[in-house]
Amino acid sequence: MTDDITADLLLGILDEVRDDSSGDLVPHLGDYEHPNPDALAMAVCDLDGTVTSAGDDGIRFDLQSASKPFVYALALDQKGVDEVAKRIGVEPSGDAFNEISLEAGTGRAPNGLVNAGALAAHALVGDTDDDEVSRFEHIRALFSRLVGREVEVDEEIADIEAKSAHRNQALAHLLAEEGNLADDPHEVVAGYGRQCAVRVDVRELAHMAAMFANGGLKPGSDERILGRKAVRYANSVMFTCGMYDAAGDWVYQVGLPAKSGVSGCLFAVVPGKFGIAAYSPRLDEHGNSVRAAAAIEELSDRFDLHVLDHV
Ligand code: GLN
Repeated sequence: MTDDITADLLLGILDEVRDDSSGDLVPHLGDYEHPNPDALAMAVCDLDGTVTSAGDDGIRFDLQSASKPFVYALALDQKGVDEVAKRIGVEPSGDAFNEISLEAGTGRAPNGLVNAGALAAHALVGDTDDDEVSRFEHIRALFSRLVGREVEVDEEIADIEAKSAHRNQALAHLLAEEGNLADDPHEVVAGYGRQCAVRVDVRELAHMAAMFANGGLKPGSDERILGRKAVRYANSVMFTCGMYDAAGDWVYQVGLPAKSGVSGCLFAVVPGKFGIAAYSPRLDEHGNSVRAAAAIEELSDRFDLHVLDHV
């Protein structure tokens, strides 16, 4: 099937969505001047590691929340399901990604893909004596191994985020109050901010998504990046929660595990087949990229990629 997904085909899809200028650039970055507000790119990576792409595929962007499923799966791998489940649930919250609310009764984060769960997952990575720097280095190492180069942090964004992370600080303190944050709230928010500011391009993000389609193996190799079970759990949560409070609509229309980031990136997983990534900075009211979502929806439609298409 991926043989039919040529660069020309991807370009055709990008052309279909290109004129949609709706949505807004990421709101929480104050007067940050976005370098590429009109960028548009898309890529597909099969399990052999072959990447096909179109558009502005050389532009790097911050992973932002697209980093969350990787770190959630890493926490599952390192700490085990039971330990993670004490702090992070698996239910869609139905709220915005940064909603200041925890699961009633347990005080857990609702799931690993809203900010509360991402903070709790970040804190679970590494050892108890890790500080914000060394804990983040475990995470950076995972991304670097997967992407095949030493990934860098967007220091300007990390800096702005650190100064404006009031909601994340509130969430981290709330989790700590409930006994559901494995480290100091300030360190966790600082490390999580750097995690969000890791930069990749759309080809690399498609390769990363293909790892989730490949049961945790790096596409094109036998190298295990994440455990099979952790990947299954992360894919499940991406299926039900990856698009935040638009997750129901996404599953209905597109039918693929996916994760968005407020930089405008979005990836989707076609289990056992390939990974898809798209990038376009303007976001809808849920914080999902308007054109990246439309492009992936179009690809899913054309190739019957919805996981329930073949029943
Ligand atoms: N850094 C952003 C935050 O923590 C990431 C949010 C996102 O991509 N949805 O709020």
